[in-house]
Amino acid sequence: AESNDTAEYFESYDNLDVHQLMLRDTVRIQAYKNAIFSCTEYFKDKVIMDVGAGTGILSIFCAQAGARVVYAVEASVLANIIPKVAKENNFSAVIRVLNQRVEDVVLPEGAKVDVIVSEWMGFYLLHEGMLDSVLHARDVHMKADGKMFPEIAKLWCAPCSMPELYDFWDDVGGVRMQSVGQIWRQQKSQEPQIVEISGSNLLTDPVNICTLDLRSISSRELESVSGKFVLPASHDGKYQGLCMWFSCVFPCIDDGSHGTVLSTAPTEPPTHWKQAVVMLPHDFTVEEGTPLAWELRLHRSALNSRHYSIEFTELDPEAVKHPLPCMCYMTKC
Ligand code: SAH
Repeated sequence: AESNDTAEYFESYDNLDVHQLMLRDTVRIQAYKNAIFSCTEYFKDKVIMDVGAGTGILSIFCAQAGARVVYAVEASVLANIIPKVAKENNFSAVIRVLNQRVEDVVLPEGAKVDVIVSEWMGFYLLHEGMLDSVLHARDVHMKADGKMFPEIAKLWCAPCSMPELYDFWDDVGGVRMQSVGQIWRQQKSQEPQIVEISGSNLLTDPVNICTLDLRSISSRELESVSGKFVLPASHDGKYQGLCMWFSCVFPCIDDGSHGTVLSTAPTEPPTHWKQAVVMLPHDFTVEEGTPLAWELRLHRSALNSRHYSIEFTELDPEAVKHPLPCMCYMTKC
């Protein structure tokens, strides 16, 4: 028996509302488009695999960049739509749809691909566990010198205030209701909330929890990610939660230029991923320079490998014994 609710997972992608949400995310679309078009030499006359092609948008970008063949691998029923999208864009001859899990794909004559393109990132990067499928595709189907789009993924966090969620309870039609708010926060602190945090509500500089090099990382290394951090508050504010987000970097050509970055940081234009916040049941006031210390552990669930448990622990900055300004201790990645 599989431990990742496979059928249920793919059915969640039958819903066109889910795909429309992603297609309307212009930050996401433009990042992939820019990444692909800024290095067409990786695509021109090449063989590409789009892992989890969905409606086929990324396969079309690859075809437009000059790909010879694009294997559009999609396990859900969405695969039936991709040939129609290919046709309306005159790429029927380039795009080959494989309606199966990438884990089951066998390419003709054991062909290897030059590039893997995939949009696999979930909330706080790791939720959904689709990266495992992409790494499998890399190991089985990609040439040794192939390129991964994206190539690097980074998970970030910082303590934050959430005034929209806290201050509401100060005045509900003129009535103070913080006692309701407190119970609500207690309930909500059990799992990360997907909300939009504004950059000015971050209380410290961003901390990099882990950096995944998708060319070399293995699934085993995704089991558990953690770190202990101590940073001074960058301004006065109320410490109400821990904000998490991710960024991805795409390959670039060897001319010293930087690869395209897709960032879901609160300081950047919003995306459909928003941010993931672990709320504190209580809040406390911090002043600029106050050291904030915490430990964050993301651990893959034993019951469902697509889920992670998240442990966020406030630490006593004194006990962590590190002078300010400080650095972070990484236990993984
Ligand atoms: N590439 C599309 C869709 C991204 S959503 C876009 O950018 O808009 C991820 C898609 O991957 C979903 O449609 C899901 O059904 C598919 N998927 C996830 N895991 C897969 C696997 N192991 N094999 C094949 N398809 C997969």
